[in-house]
Amino acid sequence: MDLTTLTLTELRDAMRGGVTSSVEATRAVLDRIVAVDNDIKSYLSVTDEMALAQAEAADARRAMGEDTPLLGIPVAVKDIICTQGVETTAGSKILQGFVPPYDAFVVRKLKDSGAVIIGKTNTDEFAMGSSTENSAYFTTGNPWDLERVPGGSSGGSAAAVAGRLAFGALGTDTGGSVRQPASFCNLVGLRPTYGRMSRWGVIAFASSLDQIGTFGRTVADCTALFQVTVGYDRQDSTSLNRPVPDYEAALTGDIRGLKVGVPEEFFIEGMQPEVEQAVRSAIDKLRDLGAEIHEISLPHSQYALPVYYLIAPAEASANLARYDGVRYGPRIEGDDLLETYNRTRALFGAEVKRRIMLGTYALSAGYYDAYYGRALKVRTLIKNDFLAAFEQVDVIAAPTSPTTAFMIGERVGDPLSMYLADIFTLPVNLSATCGLSVPCGFDGGGLPIGLQLIGNTLEEATILNIAYAYEQATGWHKQLAPCGKAATG
Ligand code: GLN
Repeated sequence: MDLTTLTLTELRDAMRGGVTSSVEATRAVLDRIVAVDNDIKSYLSVTDEMALAQAEAADARRAMGEDTPLLGIPVAVKDIICTQGVETTAGSKILQGFVPPYDAFVVRKLKDSGAVIIGKTNTDEFAMGSSTENSAYFTTGNPWDLERVPGGSSGGSAAAVAGRLAFGALGTDTGGSVRQPASFCNLVGLRPTYGRMSRWGVIAFASSLDQIGTFGRTVADCTALFQVTVGYDRQDSTSLNRPVPDYEAALTGDIRGLKVGVPEEFFIEGMQPEVEQAVRSAIDKLRDLGAEIHEISLPHSQYALPVYYLIAPAEASANLARYDGVRYGPRIEGDDLLETYNRTRALFGAEVKRRIMLGTYALSAGYYDAYYGRALKVRTLIKNDFLAAFEQVDVIAAPTSPTTAFMIGERVGDPLSMYLADIFTLPVNLSATCGLSVPCGFDGGGLPIGLQLIGNTLEEATILNIAYAYEQATGWHKQLAPCGKAATG
């Protein structure tokens, strides 16, 4: 039996039942990485020795009668999240060789729950991108079609889970970077409410928007990872000190009477017709399952893209000022300090430089009010639309991305077309709500499509349960990526 075909929760049951062990599962994953990751290229680094040691420790703990939620489960971590003793580059040359002396809060939580960390996954540089093509190292292929992108910026995590090179993974979602790759790779990807998961140890991109998220091949898998990594952390001043519900217990599959809002603004001209069709039939399915469907309006969402591309670069320009060769990563010496800064900062890739320039401009004296200040005001209008909508409905259903996975190279020359991949995900980040993507079908070329479910602040349990009900009634998630088919034997 190929253990990698099991879902995370199936593997957990199998280990609990003594049918298999963590060492076996970890070996299966590592073998598969050797077999297929030269083609997929989901991992920037594979920590195989450490993973096997963690697996052995997990099996030993189980033999002593211990059981923790992720005991012995192999998972992957996006390379923008710090891991003690393991290089963390954020997909950038400017952090090449940076080995954090500590674990991010969420990595610590993974380890506390017994997870085995397989490695660090590829990402667009500093999470700026929608395809992993902005990684300074290489582009990851989509396990559904290696000539296509897996989405981004957490494309390495998505490809690793879809390619069955991990049973789940962490990503980050500043503008859509968990949900959009989840939709491109037939996965469930959750972007929780801002502050729900601690960002301590996550390399900052845009601090008012950044949030960690979890990937799984099923809703239950995504939830299992979320359940253990969530929670208050006093080291992150934006961390929410609120009780953590039992999210796994909330997956009842009963959505009768739930009010689902459908914003017409999210079905735009120019979107791929098959995406619209799949999402509309998914909404019909929710009705069949007992939900009430209501038309709603989020009129200011049309400004989400320009607002995001002022706020995110503005915050990035401030956050990335720290990379000057003095404290982190490589330093390229010049004749004087300024020259050293200039040479070292030339290590940033084109997209990062573009954003630093845009952001610095938006924040500069004389332009601050016209650009950054104005963007903040429109952000409030976007948020108010959501507040008003959640007076009427419990959840909002929409497409995750306007198209399925595009070809590698197709959009690199045109930043705007790349930015459009996140047009439906950005409003969630700007409004401090929560959202997820769940598989809802395939286009004519066999590429996955995602349904986005958006919940009010801290309503993760509601959107996870509705996704669960939908998943159980449809089963799209059962289809495995072609380059991820079980090896015979
Ligand atoms: N694609 C968006 C960007 O380039 C969002 C990225 C993200 O969520 N990290 O900024």
